[in-house]
Amino acid sequence: PPARASAPRLRPEDVFIAVKTTRKNHGPRLGLLLRTWISRARRQTFIFTDGDDPELQLQGGSHVINTNCSAVHTRQALCCKMSVEYDKFIESGRKWFCHVDDDNYVNPEGLLQLLSAFSPNQDVYLGRPSLDHPIEATERVQGGGTVTTIKFWFATGGAGFCLSRGLALKMSPWASLGSFMSTAERVRLPDDCTVGYIVEGLLGARLLHNSLFHSHLENLQRLPPDTVLQQVTLSYGGPENPQNVVNVAGGFSLQQDPTRFKSVHCLLYPDTDWCPVQKGN
Ligand code: UDP
Ligand code: MN
Repeated sequence: PPARASAPRLRPEDVFIAVKTTRKNHGPRLGLLLRTWISRARRQTFIFTDGDDPELQLQGGSHVINTNCSAVHTRQALCCKMSVEYDKFIESGRKWFCHVDDDNYVNPEGLLQLLSAFSPNQDVYLGRPSLDHPIEATERVQGGGTVTTIKFWFATGGAGFCLSRGLALKMSPWASLGSFMSTAERVRLPDDCTVGYIVEGLLGARLLHNSLFHSHLENLQRLPPDTVLQQVTLSYGGPENPQNVVNVAGGFSLQQDPTRFKSVHCLLYPDTDWCPVQKGN
């Protein structure tokens, strides 16, 4: 045995990655994720949706969770999903909770490497703020008619964020078993802001600003091409903003790979069966 016991390396199954999706996105968005990064992160990925899809269930089995939340883009429906993600994570016993949207690419090894720099027992909230200043919200305190203002940072959900188990457990009075929805009502903010409110506003912990997470709120073209493969999450502008994609070369044209996720995936995992054959082989 080694003279000094070293801390065991973080394993993929220590991480719980929740992918938020909705029934109508299963075809247009989730299919691409399943063929790309999720295929390399099966054990750590859980898909949270709002409608039955036998075909998806067949592929994902117990890792596909129908939240039974309503399939509309309202604060209540989105907070309902986050609340189920949170409860499933707590139940899983895993060390790290990460949330992403269905238009995110996750680099599973990059994520593992990032998280292994922290202890899951400490208060860790990692992600990219969507604003360059803290959000100011009005807080309606139950009972009295008092309204107070409160300032806090939050990680934008569209870039993905992570919480340590230690911190997630402390959030439970405001997040577990449906209380997340009443907490969100108190500040009347979306799900990702509500997470920031609980962490910073109620628990006094801090968001660790991390630039390896990316949403389509940024100019993704500006990411230096030689750093794209080191990022933890990526995204794409979609039909409304098709030119907002990462700048990455590879075997696929913009027409063949409008999101650039296939190109990124083939650079990270060139042995994938549908990737262009590598030169020299
Ligand atoms: N979404 C959802 N229910 C809806 C609409 C969207 O759960 O009714 C999810 C969607 O699958 C995605 C996230 O919310 O994971 C953000 O949606 P989208 O990317 O369409 O909008 P954005 O807020 O990024 O502009
Ligand atoms: Mn989006």
